[in-house]
Amino acid sequence: MNALINTAPAGFDVAKIRQDFPVLKQKVHGKPLVYLDNAATAQKPQSVIDAIRHFYEVDCANIHRGVHELSQRSTAAYEQTRGKVRQFLNARTKNELIFVRGATEGINLVSQTWGRKCVKEGDEIIVSGLEHHSNIVPWQMLCEEKGAKLRVIPVNDSGELILEEYEKLLNPRTKLLAVGHVSNALGTINPIRQMIDMAHKAGALALIDGAQAAPHLKIDVQALDADFYALSGHKAFGPTGIGILYGKSKLLNAMPPWQGGGDMIRTVTFEKTTYNELPYKFEAGTPHIAGGIGLGAAVDYVTAIGMDRIAAYEHELLVYATAALSQIPGLRIIGTAREKAAVVSFVIEGIHPHDIGTVLDRMGIAVRTGHHCAQPIMDRFQVPATTRASLAFYNTTAEIDALAAGLQKVKEVFS
Ligand code: PLP
Repeated sequence: MNALINTAPAGFDVAKIRQDFPVLKQKVHGKPLVYLDNAATAQKPQSVIDAIRHFYEVDCANIHRGVHELSQRSTAAYEQTRGKVRQFLNARTKNELIFVRGATEGINLVSQTWGRKCVKEGDEIIVSGLEHHSNIVPWQMLCEEKGAKLRVIPVNDSGELILEEYEKLLNPRTKLLAVGHVSNALGTINPIRQMIDMAHKAGALALIDGAQAAPHLKIDVQALDADFYALSGHKAFGPTGIGILYGKSKLLNAMPPWQGGGDMIRTVTFEKTTYNELPYKFEAGTPHIAGGIGLGAAVDYVTAIGMDRIAAYEHELLVYATAALSQIPGLRIIGTAREKAAVVSFVIEGIHPHDIGTVLDRMGIAVRTGHHCAQPIMDRFQVPATTRASLAFYNTTAEIDALAAGLQKVKEVFS
């Protein structure tokens, strides 16, 4: 057995799971790779790699328009993913799922279509102090264009949103709550069911940035009653360059199209163009076909393990990592919310995060250092940057031990 694997909860065979991820088998700088940068991008199981390869080796053709065999096959494989994602998110119909490049593009699609049509001067959009830049900047741009106002839910010292303050921000001018399900910088899991309810009671819509939730939690967009839900394939063990925007069909139907081009039209004359039905109305041009097919394989993979089992195992890893890192003198964990995904963001007194990351890298340990595209939350905690270990279901307690030992070494180097 690999030295970096030891305990796992009953029935969760992490050693077997690791065999499915070829990238994890390598050494980096002569040491077994310890990959703890999953919030930036997750690794891909062999089945995802095989699905992409199969597309290019066997089925490669453009989709939707071809009558020939290869086009039929590639169309079927691509559209099957939509069905798999429908089940994964429990959307009502496949037509509510738009293929996009990632969470960023999904959020921009909503801001550029729904936002441009529905947000007027004096209206308000609420985001939170925890957001990734991709759930801040599109709304800021929209507010600038429309003369609308961006309001921000503040964050407490544990890294939790202050719901009483959120309540106070809601008013008849509020058009949208745009909030992350899980914070990438701190790992906080936001009470989005309750927050969506509160937005709806105030007459506003709710968009959820699910980029960090989709890889770790069971999601049910109907139970949440989310109006929009965006996710990135690459963070959920699928390929880069593909993602999903879920939207309620009533809203998507009422929204103007975004990009113009092939596939999103029904008829084109120089006098007038009519648009295709959902979801194609929002899918102009040849999409990332291989990416879509790979995403389907990723959904199959995590579904076979079970999102509930993944969440339970990762929670054990989080508890273990929090305890292990808390032992290190001078280390301060930033983000200690009661509800957290398996992310441990921290600073060590007197040592810059980039130095920590560089020394860890020499030991084969990959962590992220910086502001994590969430500068406002760094400002809130008055740190320029943190070091972030973000875990996935193929990580092990032994890898966390390796991180803790690595951090002791970092302290020796800089003492
Ligand atoms: N939202 C959150 C919470 C994220 O963590 C990220 C990426 O780190 C994004 C959005 C943007 O995702 P992408 O770059 O895949 O579009």
